[in-house]
Amino acid sequence: MTVLLRPKPLGDYKVREFRMLIDGQWVAGAEGRTIERVAPGHGVVVSRYQAAAKADAERAIAAARRAFDGGPWPRMTASERSLVLLRAADMIAARADELAFLDAIESGKPISQAKGELAGAADIWRYAAALARDLSGDSYNTLGEGTLGVVLREAIGVVSIITPWNFPFLIVSQKLPFALAAGCTTVVKPSELTSASTLVLGEILEAAGVPAGAVNIIVGTGPEAGAPLTTHPDVDMVSFTGSTGVGRLTMANAAQTLKKVSLELGGKNPQIVFPDANLDEFIDAAVFGAYFNAGECCNAGSRLILHRDIAEEVTARIASLSAKVKVGDPLDPETQVGAIITPQHLEKIAGYVTAATGEGAAVSHGGAALDLGIGQFMAPTVLSAVRPEMAVAREEVFGPVLSVLTFETAEEAIRIANSIDYGLSAGVWSRDFDTCLTIGRRVRAGTIWMNTFMDGASELPFGGYRQSGLGRELGRHAVEDYTETKTLNMHLGQRTS
Ligand code: NAD
Repeated sequence: MTVLLRPKPLGDYKVREFRMLIDGQWVAGAEGRTIERVAPGHGVVVSRYQAAAKADAERAIAAARRAFDGGPWPRMTASERSLVLLRAADMIAARADELAFLDAIESGKPISQAKGELAGAADIWRYAAALARDLSGDSYNTLGEGTLGVVLREAIGVVSIITPWNFPFLIVSQKLPFALAAGCTTVVKPSELTSASTLVLGEILEAAGVPAGAVNIIVGTGPEAGAPLTTHPDVDMVSFTGSTGVGRLTMANAAQTLKKVSLELGGKNPQIVFPDANLDEFIDAAVFGAYFNAGECCNAGSRLILHRDIAEEVTARIASLSAKVKVGDPLDPETQVGAIITPQHLEKIAGYVTAATGEGAAVSHGGAALDLGIGQFMAPTVLSAVRPEMAVAREEVFGPVLSVLTFETAEEAIRIANSIDYGLSAGVWSRDFDTCLTIGRRVRAGTIWMNTFMDGASELPFGGYRQSGLGRELGRHAVEDYTETKTLNMHLGQRTS
């Protein structure tokens, strides 16, 4: 059984109409086409966007280029830029309920969770504002008397920012304020499924004092609106979050003109659990980590690697806790698991479960789509008897599906954890410090949680090893990522050699 909260119909909800932001103007697309977003939890159109064609992407890039080469944003003092970012943070906090509503209704995520993401996003804008004032280089007076070496950090230039649908406002907030803090200008393309909150962010940034052309926002599909942002010679850097496949394509496109790329990609994150762990804490964290954002989360703890001695008991307890998870209406404050992003994606998730059971996995809970009358939903699902070579244990399912694998020795657990292409995050649970540290050092992932899972903070760098990405976001070097290094090698007085 699963606790179901049936979505309440939206009644006379008025569809929101959005234009694109190019060079300080809210404009229609060159070809006059629109994109409509059907709310995944409610089955009705909630937003209508202007669809960008290649020509719109090129107009936005040209505006960003002009704003970088001659506009005020890169020429302001760090203190002035910081003040704009702080004002933006206050406005984000003031409009948090509206922004959270837009993310919840377009992505299907629970409203309570969307509100948490907005609080986190406002904090990131404040953190970036602080870092803006601390961007510095180095100087060397050790090169010989009469010489001085100065290492400058300069804004890299025009940055394309491409984001996915699963954390619409949070992910643009992990990129844009840091690019702006460095003095870059930008073209932002959110996912065409969840563009509303990013467009409202455009209004906020205008009101906060970001000058025309410094932030341009276009909406459209990847091949039409996204691809030009990765190939155009006037773009200096691409900051991309999304699937590993499109990340690979982005890197290949950027290679044509040797742009810098930053990639935040997929994950298949293991949680390794030893018999001496606090199992009550772990079971709570496992259920949260697997079903947060309906499992549509790069950080989902979707691979449990349990010690054989505790596997049966722990799996049974996780299955029974899964039955208490409330699934349904994204707008109900009680909901813990909302809707699945599209009907096609729901089919893909269910397909992974069918394939796994065909290969010998057992369903300990859930296992199928849920019919709530409207929208598309998936039951929280626990699969046991999963073997490391099965697709469900190696590939990103991106749904509320937990795979349980087992191990006997720490070496075996490490081998299973490292046996796939991803390396975004991992968890280890044990009361023994040596065990946690050994696993923490040997599992190849960008974040290792010890006796906790999925906590984060603006100060902590985030990103992946191997095919989970390239580069890190957040943390104190986040602004530096959007800079070039320039060496000034100076000779003082008469040159002697
Ligand atoms: P996606 O790769 O399909 O799309 C991401 C963005 O890229 C969208 O804006 C899309 O329109 C655009 N795009 C698609 N094709 C493109 C192309 N040819 N050129 C340029 N842009 C193109 O990903 P998604 O389905 O929106 O998001 C889910 C994926 O994102 C998952 O794999 C998830 O793990 C990953 N993700 C990673 C992180 C992280 O920080 N590591 C965070 C969130 C999501």
